[in-house]
Amino acid sequence: MKVLVLNCGSSSLKYQLMNMEDESSLAKGLVERIGIDGAFLEHEPAEGEEVTIENEIPDHSVAIKMVIDALLDDAHGVIDDMDEISAVGHRVVHGGEEFSDSVLIDDEVYDAIDGVKDLAPLHNPPNLLGIEVSQELMPETPDVAVFDTAFHQTMPAKSYLYALPYEWYKEHDVRRYGFHGTSHKYVSQRAAELLDKPIEDLKIITCHLGNGASVAAIDGGKVVDTSMGLTPLEGLVMGTRCGDIDPAIVPFMMEKEDLSPAEIDNILNKESGVAGISGVSSDFRDLEEAAQEGNERAKVAIDVFCQRVKKYIGSYSAALGGVDVVVFTAGIGENAIGIRAEILEDLAYLGFTLDEEKNDVRGEESIITTDNSDNIAMVIPTNEELVIARDTKRLVIKA
Ligand code: AMP
Repeated sequence: MKVLVLNCGSSSLKYQLMNMEDESSLAKGLVERIGIDGAFLEHEPAEGEEVTIENEIPDHSVAIKMVIDALLDDAHGVIDDMDEISAVGHRVVHGGEEFSDSVLIDDEVYDAIDGVKDLAPLHNPPNLLGIEVSQELMPETPDVAVFDTAFHQTMPAKSYLYALPYEWYKEHDVRRYGFHGTSHKYVSQRAAELLDKPIEDLKIITCHLGNGASVAAIDGGKVVDTSMGLTPLEGLVMGTRCGDIDPAIVPFMMEKEDLSPAEIDNILNKESGVAGISGVSSDFRDLEEAAQEGNERAKVAIDVFCQRVKKYIGSYSAALGGVDVVVFTAGIGENAIGIRAEILEDLAYLGFTLDEEKNDVRGEESIITTDNSDNIAMVIPTNEELVIARDTKRLVIKA
């Protein structure tokens, strides 16, 4: 069984074709700058050369057609016929309270996803577009939606309710949802597998540290709290997102700088985070380089980022009543050796003793605490596409 995984953004699209017999990737790729000048598709077959195809790509329909053409291509394709694609798994960012698991898409599900689009106005509309185009191009092929929010739906009310008028929750769905659910699910389950322990016996804190970043507290395989909220803006300091701030800053700065709601929203999402503090970059490779060259703002931006992660690990160990495992994943978590070290510094009181030699690792599954450390910190590269493909297979077989 072959499953095509699609992750549609507003001007980009990521894809991967998975062979579910052995869960291997047959090909993956990326379309960038959809609807903008200079669009291209980058296609990487598992065996063979990566190719880049530059073309006018006015919309998602053309983009997905190009993906299918690349998969079928004589030279760099990996399938002979479109019918070989048994199902399409779509990453959908927001499932609201409606979806606590992935789901086979029908008209009712489509409408329900459309119904919560106000909660993720930048993400759900392009996700829906991907579903529409996929149904248009492959009408006989089942589509499955896998939500970023679903894994977090086990959170109790004491974690998901904000201390705001209750009517805001009832009438406008204002509550914590959490994001990166597929990633937190994958790395927590993989941690239990690698440690050869039942997940039911583990208290795990997963740190997804990428351009977007979030932490989850997972007890016995179930999320009890997570740092992102109604939207992916809350929680950790991110590349360009502010994370937790005093909410009073919003009206204060709107008045000071005469900002509209859209303008302040844009600043908090796109001009804040480590990029906002440093004035250098949102990318930790640039920040580390600048810090090494003596740039004080880059250095303090890194420190603010690490301090926030450390504070979340402390507060989540309190929420969990202890912690056995901390997992680092995503671009920064998998690759930034110094950042992991700075976060784990001073966490000996929680039972984590970093092994500097073992921590000298990038993008590989590994334990980075010493053999006699009471608790374990690990690096586990995330694999959201695999979770999407597995859920897609499970639901299509069940149907
Ligand atoms: P992601 O959103 O998971 O793709 O993560 C992207 C981010 O990971 C980039 O913006 C960088 O900040 C960070 N990153 C990737 N590779 C490295 C590296 N080798 N060292 C430090 N940070 C990295």
